Amino acid sequence: MNYFKRKFIILLYHKIGDYPEKAKFPGLYVSEKNFDKQIKYLKNKGYVFLTLSEMKQLYDNEYYPVLNNLKHESGNYDSAADTSKNEKNKFVSITFDDGSRSIYTKGLKIIKNNNVNATVFMVSDLIGDVNVWDIKNGEIKDEMLKPEELREMIKAGIEIGAHTRTHPHLTMISEKNAYEEISDSKKILEEKLNININFFAYPYGDYNENVKKLAAKAGFEGAVITKTGIVKNNADFFALRRVAIRHNTDFFKFKRKIFKVKYFY
Ligand SMILES: [Zn+2]
Repeated sequence: MNYFKRKFIILLYHKIGDYPEKAKFPGLYVSEKNFDKQIKYLKNKGYVFLTLSEMKQLYDNEYYPVLNNLKHESGNYDSAADTSKNEKNKFVSITFDDGSRSIYTKGLKIIKNNNVNATVFMVSDLIGDVNVWDIKNGEIKDEMLKPEELREMIKAGIEIGAHTRTHPHLTMISEKNAYEEISDSKKILEEKLNININFFAYPYGDYNENVKKLAAKAGFEGAVITKTGIVKNNADFFALRRVAIRHNTDFFKFKRKIFKVKYFY
């Protein structure tokens, strides 16, 4: 039986916290209160939280017992193995693009307190630095995750994915540069953190057929985009759709977004 025939939701976040007054892109912030409320809502609805690699494992195996083999050592997972709780096949993944330090300073305790996990897409050349690409676009300075913070999050069950070296528009640079940005970000993170990097996020959600091929060639198992949607059977794993959560996504809008992707995508 194919247990993946229902749908899998991937949520897209950037920064946790109230947005500073001078922020040019306030949409990228989600307050701690809202983030916590959103996770609790999904938990109460019976959703099991998976990292993207766990989701892929479930997708490939199309069989529930794979949930029993998920890594639970950290104790940070809900009891995903308790399949009786999830007869409706409700799966969700929290993803963060860029690697803002606020994920560690403000988000991690919420993730831990709720016993869930997440996947963080890190701009590999900017570990411990600031949001250089965003500052060029007129945004205020935001600190990026430091190596020891990334390691602590990995210990807490959080998956790290790659988001290029410098956050370029991949369709606007040469194929050679694009491939280096994609492939090197994987290698740099793998070497620095001593883990496998399996998933990729296209900066600005900017991709085309060729860029997708480059991500596959670099050895990723899949890549996420910013278009709205849900992961269904026969999903294109190099263009996985997500549901973007923003600072103005209040509780009503959040519930409506989840409902809409589940039933209309
Ligand atoms: Zn980004």
